[in-house]
Amino acid sequence: MRLLVIEDERDLAALIREALVRAGFAVDVAPDLADADDYLAVATYDALILDRALPDGDGLVLLRRLRAGGSAVPVLVLTARDALEDRVTGLDSGADDYLVKPFHLPELVARLRALLRRPNAALGVALSLGPLVLDTATRQVRVDGAPVEFSVRETAMLEMLLRRQGVVVARETLEQGLYSFDSHLGSNALEVLVHRLRRRLAEVAPALSVHTVRGVGYLLAGHA
Ligand code: CA
Repeated sequence: MRLLVIEDERDLAALIREALVRAGFAVDVAPDLADADDYLAVATYDALILDRALPDGDGLVLLRRLRAGGSAVPVLVLTARDALEDRVTGLDSGADDYLVKPFHLPELVARLRALLRRPNAALGVALSLGPLVLDTATRQVRVDGAPVEFSVRETAMLEMLLRRQGVVVARETLEQGLYSFDSHLGSNALEVLVHRLRRRLAEVAPALSVHTVRGVGYLLAGHA
């Protein structure tokens, strides 16, 4: 799940990013509306975290433009202005939720997860294949009901493969979903991650395997 954080306060943006990455999301950060436009032009996001007071304008301008263009991407608006009027304006502009600064990071993560669970996001909470179940809210993986540890990135990859189980997932799609633009991604980083995930699955859920479809991508499948 890939998120775009549009926030100009660098320290706050870094804290938000860290909390979201720890929660299993791939996160890009844009410090102003112009940068946000650039990111939105080339990547698809599962949700946006949008500050209102940005150096080149009000975040709601971007939000209204997105909604006018038919985008239904969930948007959580941040604001330092604790006025009912602001809240109403934000929701009228198409925000899905609203958080007043200062806020606690766990609150932000909880609100985002709630947004991503809404029906219009078409996302279930539990994804499963054979004996394995991934709870996308708590990030916990269970095999035959017992909790099993996967790293944050292994879990993120598992989630993408589970959402498209039985279908080949293009490597570009996986790379986009797993990494942020500014994390330095080596050319074989995806292969390394697939290797780790395979090794982990072989240990804890040997009935599942990740198949390579050469030149295309990867496929998660179960076998009897
Ligand atoms: Ca700001």
